[in-house]
Amino acid sequence: MPLPPAGGGPNATPTGAPATVAMGGPVPLVEFVDVTRAFPGPPEVQALKDVNLAIGQGDYVSIVGPSGSGKSTMLNILGLLDRPSVGQYRLAGAHTGDLTEDERAAVRARLIGFVFQSFHLMQHRSVLDNVLMPMLYSGVPRAERESRALAALERVGLSHRLGFLPSTLSGGERQRVAVARAVVSGPQLLLADEPTGNLDQATSGEVLALFEELHADGLTLVVITHDTAIAQRASRHIRILDGRCSEAA
Ligand code: ADP
Ligand code: MG
Repeated sequence: MPLPPAGGGPNATPTGAPATVAMGGPVPLVEFVDVTRAFPGPPEVQALKDVNLAIGQGDYVSIVGPSGSGKSTMLNILGLLDRPSVGQYRLAGAHTGDLTEDERAAVRARLIGFVFQSFHLMQHRSVLDNVLMPMLYSGVPRAERESRALAALERVGLSHRLGFLPSTLSGGERQRVAVARAVVSGPQLLLADEPTGNLDQATSGEVLALFEELHADGLTLVVITHDTAIAQRASRHIRILDGRCSEAA
């Protein structure tokens, strides 16, 4: 099946056509239809139960729930790192269940950026190398890769740390490197799993401010957090409890 074009605009579909349907609404960027994720036991655990969810282009969504409620399972499916056991996940209108692993990796690289609680940086590589990494096998020429990485690092305010190793940076700076790495390829969807979980309040604020700038530029954001103050900054608030989702008005 055709994959979304590189650099597709905010309303691009896998075919490149404007993402509108006859009924008038835009096609959601993300759509879960009756998604269940069961881990075979025994005992079997249903980490997600019959979840229906649509996230539009440019939405800023928080997902809050206690430990073990299914948040990471949800993020893994959203990020094409895992698949539903039952139901469908449509991304930019495409049925992801029809994709091969290679196609999923290609879609992931093009459309999705990840930010994790513990940063997941390469410890023995410079800040610049960490941000260059997602583009290594992208076919983008070297000079272009460099200029994109420099622009991403400029954007997160780290142009003065290019040659530094992650271990010499503060937690807030490390997370900003991770954000630069997540957005350097121009994704449409940014997935963050407890992105401020290892940060103090001041640096959490910096990272959230950065997210809000990216959101203002049209990036779709899904932020998992157990911190209700952080969740409130999103424009949509989803709660997850024992694998079931509900949305606050
Ligand atoms: P959260 O991120 O909200 O803490 P998870 O999505 O990690 O929760 O887990 C939801 C439930 O699914 C938990 O009961 C967890 O033990 C179970 N679970 C998650 N991953 C696996 C797995 N690979 N195998 C078996 N059970 C799992
Ligand atoms: Mg988790």
